Amino acid sequence: MVTRVADVPVAIVGGGPAGLMAAEALVARGLRPQVFDAMPSLGRKFLMAGKGGLNLTHREPLEVFLARYGAAQSHLEPVVRAFPPHAIRHWAGELGVDTFEGTSGRVFPTESKAGPLLRAWLHRLRAAGVLTHAHHRWLGWNAAGHLRFATPEGEIVVAPQATVLALGGASWPDLGSDAAWVPWLAERGVRVSPFVPANCGFEVAWSEHLKTRAQGLPVKSVVLSFGEQRLKGEFVLTTYGIEGGVVYTLSAALRDAITAHGSARLHVDLLPGLSRDEIARRLAKPRGKQSLANHWRKALHLGGAKALLLRECARPEDLADHRRLATLIKALPIVLLAPRPIAEAISSAGGVAWDALDERFMLKAIPGIFCTGEMLDWEAPTGGYLLTACLALGRACGHGVADWLATREPMGA
Ligand SMILES: Cc1cc2nc3c(=O)[nH]c(=O)nc-3n(C[C@H](O)[C@H](O)[C@H](O)COP(=O)(O)OP(=O)(O)OC[C@H]3O[C@@H](n4cnc5c(N)ncnc54)[C@H](O)[C@@H]3O)c2cc1C
Repeated sequence: MVTRVADVPVAIVGGGPAGLMAAEALVARGLRPQVFDAMPSLGRKFLMAGKGGLNLTHREPLEVFLARYGAAQSHLEPVVRAFPPHAIRHWAGELGVDTFEGTSGRVFPTESKAGPLLRAWLHRLRAAGVLTHAHHRWLGWNAAGHLRFATPEGEIVVAPQATVLALGGASWPDLGSDAAWVPWLAERGVRVSPFVPANCGFEVAWSEHLKTRAQGLPVKSVVLSFGEQRLKGEFVLTTYGIEGGVVYTLSAALRDAITAHGSARLHVDLLPGLSRDEIARRLAKPRGKQSLANHWRKALHLGGAKALLLRECARPEDLADHRRLATLIKALPIVLLAPRPIAEAISSAGGVAWDALDERFMLKAIPGIFCTGEMLDWEAPTGGYLLTACLALGRACGHGVADWLATREPMGA
């Protein structure tokens, strides 16, 4: 049996940061939206982000910040300018969560977790009259154009005046955003760019020797080069390849290069503080009875993960020639074969195309249906840019819904 729920002014499907911020904006405009989510509780990916400290935003100058959105900058710029990083910190502060700037400029809650912020946020929304419904999986539309939900009590149909879809991207589907909605929107004429992994690891054909020793080893204080980009930082060796840190920052360019050419060659400067000549000079010192590993450690302070990587990528003839070895230490090539699956990625690229939306985030093909958050076609590196955009997009979409409703006849008229 299908129960019909009629008196829902605005249904928000997806209770992640974008959906909840849309709810907050609607409340500010005097509306009482209801939030539906498939999972047993709301904000699961937000909570998972909290396990890494919850990098909410970044303190860098706004012009630099906005450029992180790459091809989508023109779409995200007005939205982020309307709810910029300092406003996000203020918003968190109003919810009783102070923030601090890490050494890299990344901004985190002082407690470095998401639970207190999410709890305070949900409490404030519910106190303002927002109803939240967990265990409500949206199944698309029925023939009358109403929303279908699977619930523990059976299927229900909801007929709101306006709907916000804030269904997330396609990474970590176990946390709720599984992109099951893509065909439902495509069938109704909405252009959706295919989802691909963003901020992801990459596969490398490591030897068995490296695989057995590498898992989880950080390679610190290196410079990674790819194309025009040179980034200082660290990354992590895994049995399948590399992940983390600066690899995520380069991941969009690496992924696109692999799609275009079948593989991508990254170069690692293992000792950015030393010139090639200085490295060659130190390597040329007689090593006596010392092993190669000891010689590298004493002459260059190069050991651990860096030495493992150097041995993996160098040929025997390179190891015997200090000039060739110095060249390799300054630019060690690593060939990346494929991005890791999207289910493991921090975020996804792809989603509802910008030209499918009007300026209020309403789907041109389906009046009254709005989309927001990571389900839209944009990507950004880690550093707080993802959550900042999701919060700012949610806010802008909520106002878009309120503006649109204001142009229509009053409810019940
Ligand atoms: C491990 C990890 C760490 C991260 N750390 C950070 C970080 O530190 N900083 C940062 O900026 N970003 C981080 N992110 C990314 C950030 O969490 C996401 O970009 C953000 O949560 C996306 O927000 P959203 O509201 O658009 O989607 P989501 O948070 O994915 O929310 C979408 C919601 O929609 C619901 N839903 C989906 N389909 C249906 C359906 N059919 N019916 C009903 N409900 C549905 C889901 O259950 C989910 O609750 C991290 C991500 C991961 C995986």
